[in-house]
Amino acid sequence: MVKIFLKRSREESLERFHPWIFSGAIQRIEGSPAEGELVAVYSFDGELLGTGHYQSGSIAVRILEFGTDKLSDRFWIEKLLASYNFRRKLGLTESSTTNAYRLVHGEGDMLPGLVIDIYDDTAVLQAHSAGIYLVRNQISDALLELYGGKLRAVYDKSSGTVPSREIFNPVDAYLFGEKATPATILENGKIFNVDWCHGQKTGFFLDQRDNRALMEHYAKSRNVLNLFCYTGGFSIYALAAESTSVTSVDSSRSAVELLEKNVELNRQSGIISKEALHKSFCTDAVEYIKSEGKGIYDLIVVDPPAFAKHKSALSNALRAYQRLNAAAIEKVAHGGIIFTFSCSQVVDKISFAQTIFSAAAQTGRAVRILHRLAQAPDHPVNIYHPEGEYLKGLVLFVE
Ligand code: SAH
Repeated sequence: MVKIFLKRSREESLERFHPWIFSGAIQRIEGSPAEGELVAVYSFDGELLGTGHYQSGSIAVRILEFGTDKLSDRFWIEKLLASYNFRRKLGLTESSTTNAYRLVHGEGDMLPGLVIDIYDDTAVLQAHSAGIYLVRNQISDALLELYGGKLRAVYDKSSGTVPSREIFNPVDAYLFGEKATPATILENGKIFNVDWCHGQKTGFFLDQRDNRALMEHYAKSRNVLNLFCYTGGFSIYALAAESTSVTSVDSSRSAVELLEKNVELNRQSGIISKEALHKSFCTDAVEYIKSEGKGIYDLIVVDPPAFAKHKSALSNALRAYQRLNAAAIEKVAHGGIIFTFSCSQVVDKISFAQTIFSAAAQTGRAVRILHRLAQAPDHPVNIYHPEGEYLKGLVLFVE
């Protein structure tokens, strides 16, 4: 097995269960590891620290197990079972109102490079590292053992997330079974079509589940505008809450089409009343809010895609968040509420709050913070790996 020795004193973060080894921390490598190969990591003094997947680039090793150079034959089933038991304790695995949840959230579940979302009887796996991609069939087998006959299909959606410089060329495909998409899931008693084959990410933004439920609490008798609505997560909750009207905006044609289907499905099932008013627009959300008059909406959701994917794009991203939020704060009605989010990992919660502060100051309106929001708990953050905290939200009350 290839051995990697760290520079002096560079083992400290590993001893605190931070699972990344940066290439700059490596003193020497015994052997020549292939992309995705399991390697053993040692301190400068030769103490065995753990084993993980090697990958060329800034994060050289992602540790899967600390204090050993072997993974047990039952490694994947044991880890998935631990992740499952955690979700069970969160009340997500046997719920009669929710059958979709994130089973594995990478570093937050001590499984760096791996994301698995469960959509009722289908698991969608996404590899974010070469090592995970290479063992995807083992992970799929472990999933089938864990869920028994309850799992009908396992879909691999790694084409956009495994770095393309690898020697292999990932193609999205079923690893087990097959299921026609869009397929339906239940979230807090609402029905959603999810298309993991053609949709964004793994098909649905499960990280917003609790934030949607909070918004439902405020939506009654309000005119709601849902910017960057995707397939209508927030819109369906707002319609179910007897809002006065809901307007949904997204630039993706296929997202808006699925949103329309979701509205119909929930109407037919009596979750949304026949009279509920909904309009959708397939257009640029920033242009839309800028062109709208003031005071039309009393609740606005602003949930844009990650404006900054890398630190280098940070200052431009913060300016874009500020412009967008200033427009929302300027346009919302008196006594209006804004749910605003950033899912850029490189924008931390302090810079996000400062950006919203600047946006508010730009409008001159009185703004109070009602809630500070984050990703749902099935997207846990390992306290020693703060990089795992990516979704931030503020709920604002605007005079
Ligand atoms: N709130 C959604 C998730 C939003 S993801 C939910 O709860 O499911 C971000 C969305 O922004 C994606 O659907 C993407 O298509 C859309 N988007 C990206 N750029 C856009 C733009 N300039 N105008 C409108 N929508 C945009």
